[in-house]
Amino acid sequence: MAEQESLEFGKADFVLLDTVSLEDFMANLKLRPTRQQNIAVIPSRRWKVRSLPHVFVHHEQGEISSVPPVDTKLCWWSGGNHDSQPGLSESYPVFEKGRIYSYIGEVVVSVNPYRAMNIYGRDTIEQYKGRELYERPPHLFAIADAAYKAMKRRNKDSCIVISGESGAGKTEASKYIMQYIAAITNPSQRAEVERVKNMLLKSNCVLEAFGNAKTNRNDNSSRFGKYMDINFDFKGDPIGGHINNYLLEKSRVIFQQEGERSFHSFYQLVKGAPESLLRSLHIKKDSTANDYIKVGGHVKSSINDGADFKAVADAMKVIGFTTDEIQTVYKILATILHLVPYLVLMLCLGYLPALHCIPNVHKRRSEGNLKFGSDGDATLIENTKLVAVLAELLSTKEENVEKALLYRTVATGRDVIDKQHTDKEASYGRDALAKAIYERLFCWIVGRINDVIEVKNYDARIHGKNTVIGVLDIYGFEIFQNNSFEQFCINYCNEKLQQLFIQLVLKQEQEEYQREGIPWIHIDYFNNQIIVDLVEQQHKGIFSVLDEACMNVGKVTDEMFLQALNGKLAKHAHYTSRKLSPTDKSLEFDRDFRIRHYAGDVVYSVVGFIDKNKDTLFQDFKRLLYNSSNPVLKAMWPEGKLSITEVTKRPLTAGTLFKNSMISLVENLASKEPYYVRCVKPNDVKSPLLFEYERCKHQVEYLGLLENVRVRRAGFANRQTYARFLQRYKMISEFTWPNHDLPSDQEAVRRLLQGCGFEQDAAFGKTKVFIRTPRTIFSLEEQRAEM
Ligand code: ATP
Ligand code: MG
Repeated sequence: MAEQESLEFGKADFVLLDTVSLEDFMANLKLRPTRQQNIAVIPSRRWKVRSLPHVFVHHEQGEISSVPPVDTKLCWWSGGNHDSQPGLSESYPVFEKGRIYSYIGEVVVSVNPYRAMNIYGRDTIEQYKGRELYERPPHLFAIADAAYKAMKRRNKDSCIVISGESGAGKTEASKYIMQYIAAITNPSQRAEVERVKNMLLKSNCVLEAFGNAKTNRNDNSSRFGKYMDINFDFKGDPIGGHINNYLLEKSRVIFQQEGERSFHSFYQLVKGAPESLLRSLHIKKDSTANDYIKVGGHVKSSINDGADFKAVADAMKVIGFTTDEIQTVYKILATILHLVPYLVLMLCLGYLPALHCIPNVHKRRSEGNLKFGSDGDATLIENTKLVAVLAELLSTKEENVEKALLYRTVATGRDVIDKQHTDKEASYGRDALAKAIYERLFCWIVGRINDVIEVKNYDARIHGKNTVIGVLDIYGFEIFQNNSFEQFCINYCNEKLQQLFIQLVLKQEQEEYQREGIPWIHIDYFNNQIIVDLVEQQHKGIFSVLDEACMNVGKVTDEMFLQALNGKLAKHAHYTSRKLSPTDKSLEFDRDFRIRHYAGDVVYSVVGFIDKNKDTLFQDFKRLLYNSSNPVLKAMWPEGKLSITEVTKRPLTAGTLFKNSMISLVENLASKEPYYVRCVKPNDVKSPLLFEYERCKHQVEYLGLLENVRVRRAGFANRQTYARFLQRYKMISEFTWPNHDLPSDQEAVRRLLQGCGFEQDAAFGKTKVFIRTPRTIFSLEEQRAEM
């Protein structure tokens, strides 16, 4: 048996990750060890492959036809014929060779390689710097450069919209784009610009620690949406920026699906913080650790929380968080860990993914550490010692903590009374507190970063307008086993972005040809406006119906909300529910409703919609935190200043806030010159070797890429008004330099292009000239440069 530390899979019968023992592998395949096999062992570290399957089988002309049926640990890799192995992967040489980028017009299509690629270094940056889009092989850097050039040459704000499903590579792409922009700017090494660039890059590390988590789809999944503006001065150097964050998935703080984790920040603290800090936060390593390790089995995560703790702490310091601020951040994390302590236990062990294997774990989860009981009349806190810990961490008095946890101040007419919670209400309040303080912490961190990176001392009257490149990295379309309010919001966001894509890339382009009188055969596409309306329309849309239900006084249940939806939307082509379609097998439960999204059908469970939309945090908690003697914490909760009689206005619901933020995001993007990166996820197992054809095809379809290709194929690469075209190229023709005496600019452009032999490649609209191939533009540019 020849074992190679080789990456030449082509010669190997089997390709194995080094996390699998050879014996297990052979036993699994029921192969006799006497047989001659070539086994290539891939170091999993190098390949960044972190999860199953660990084994890839190379299929060579029936060589291993005795292999048992494919199970979850076994995947075909390469060589197999797609037709002869339905449902399995076939060979994709382009993917295997690492050509992960492609273009549709100016849209970059990217496939996640799931391995470190040597294509982002200084030498590659130099190859793309200042070049036109088509001069070099497709790359993210080319689009970054195009956005940068548009901004610099034409003084136009641009934005790069990165989309794709979870794990498709959006965040990595956004980081490479930022790195590229940082690398090509500030040739004169101005200190202030260097400072800004450093802050912008460092902010990623902090935001990922607090906003990302390990999910089943992605070990570093962004659980928030991020839009970042980078501001440039008249020289084209970054002088600041601004981050907008969208809907953090805060429910993750109190609950994670099987195999997932909470936000990285918690694990980093417990694994990486020095003993003295942990002691001051009252976090202990649990003594019963071994019990859990035995039960859980070894589900390791390759994330290095300890090292990340240090990196994040350093980044926070560089960004300018004060020591007090950083301490407060840790205290808040510890507060949450004490409120939801199962996390502490598992954090210490690093075996959180195995949590579901522990008996009664769901019970543990829902109880939390801070337990409530009753002595018959009154609700009590069972673990009173913890109240002192919480009071210390939150810099407040024990009795204040106790009161906020057990009572609610209510105004009845002119009287103000303290109403005691039932133990159920108290538990609800505790969970809401844990979620709210984490969310507030996250928003505060974003706000602090913004304070530091915001443009300062720039006088537009002296230096001219500062321009902006926006980078949007927002959650992709999500279809889980159980889909709730969060998935509903996320998928609505994707509908909005798809609508923008349609408006900007498909619709506008075609309308422009028609407006300009260019002969054009209309290309059909699915316009998802109907689904956007289903969700966001006033009165009839799902958000409105939900708000109405939340506004009702008295007890409104999720089921009543579903009934209201059924009443309003029974005839909608993209909506149905179990009640409306009782024979539909995909609608398993009475609580389910289904939306036919542009990217596919999603069944949502209505459970929790009302609660999550109301997003209630008792005013008592807000007051508790506002009255803290820790100034950093106090500043995070300004609304705690109001007394109960002053709180009159009902806050906007979570759904409405999200809807409004999406509407303004899309308006903002639409006002800029857009560039798109469409990310495709090649497989569900984070493998660098598998290109699952059907899976990729589905993404290509729902991302609207087919229509995009058709429009681009039939269309033109470049268009400009006649006046602008002449302004740029008039020096290359004797007919137009220095001025033309032809009857119109259109005629002048025609003569210019005729003179260069490009007339056939152009179409002449009412106000604009359209050039079909980019090569023509390159040639014009070259001639211009030679003048
Ligand atoms: P989510 O919506 O869950 O946040 P995402 O689209 O942002 O997902 P990323 O976190 O960018 O996905 O990528 C997932 C993983 O895929 C990365 O952690 C990395 O291991 C790998 N990956 C993505 N892009 C690349 C790349 N260009 N080169 C190497 N590995 C990559
Ligand atoms: Mg991401």
